[in-house]
Amino acid sequence: MSGGFATVLLLLACRQDAPGAQPEPTVAPASAADPWYASHRDEFLGLYTHLHTHPELSYQEVETAARVSAELKRAGAKVTTGVGKLGVVGVIENGPGPVVLVRTDMDALPVVEQTGLPYASKVKARDSQGREAGVMHACGHDVHMTCFIGTARWLGEHKDRWSGTVVMAAQPAEEAIGGLATCSPMVCTAASPSLTSPWRCTATRMSPPALSCTAEARSWPARPRSP
Ligand SMILES: [Zn+2]
Repeated sequence: MSGGFATVLLLLACRQDAPGAQPEPTVAPASAADPWYASHRDEFLGLYTHLHTHPELSYQEVETAARVSAELKRAGAKVTTGVGKLGVVGVIENGPGPVVLVRTDMDALPVVEQTGLPYASKVKARDSQGREAGVMHACGHDVHMTCFIGTARWLGEHKDRWSGTVVMAAQPAEEAIGGLATCSPMVCTAASPSLTSPWRCTATRMSPPALSCTAEARSWPARPRSP
C-alpha cells in the first residue's frame, strides 16, 4: 500500500541471508529507509529478537499469541483471540474500499538452535509426543510476525493514505499442518462481528501441498475503490 511497509519487510527479510554469527539482526541503516521506518527500526528489531528468543511449538503459542494480540490492539485493530485454539484475528476498518486479508504464522520448530547468536533461543519444551525438544524459529515465523505487526502499525498510523478494511490473521500450528483448519472459515467468523459494513468471505481455500493457506475476503456488496 506504500513503500513504507515494503521497506520494513525487505529490510527485515535481509537478515535471513546473514552468514555466521552477528551481534544483532542485520538490517540496512535506518537512513536508507523512509522516515517512518527509521523512527520504528529499533522497536521492530526489538520485537523480532524477542520473538526469536522466545519461540513456542505448534499449539503452544500462548505467549506469542498474547504478544500479537497486544500489538494488534496497539495498531488500533479490533481483536478476537482464541480463534481455532490460539489464533488471533484483528480488524482495521478505514472507510469504503476492499477487504484485504493479511496472514502470519506464529509457531516455531523442534530444532536446537546452534547459531551462536546473542539472541539465540535456549528454549526447551515438550513436543506433541511428550519428548523434550529444543525450540527455534528456524522457519522465519519470527520475521513473518514482525512484518505482520509492522504492516498493522503502518496502516494504523497512515489512515489518510488508504481506504478499506484489513483483516489481520495470525495462525497457530502452521508447522503441524493441523493449524490450517484454524486459518480458514474461522478467520471469517472471528472477523465478522468487528466489521460494521455488510461483507462475506467469498473464497477460503488451502493451497497444496498444504504447508500454507490463503484466504480471500471480499466486501459484499462490493465497495467502491477509493482513488
Ligand atoms: Zn513455517
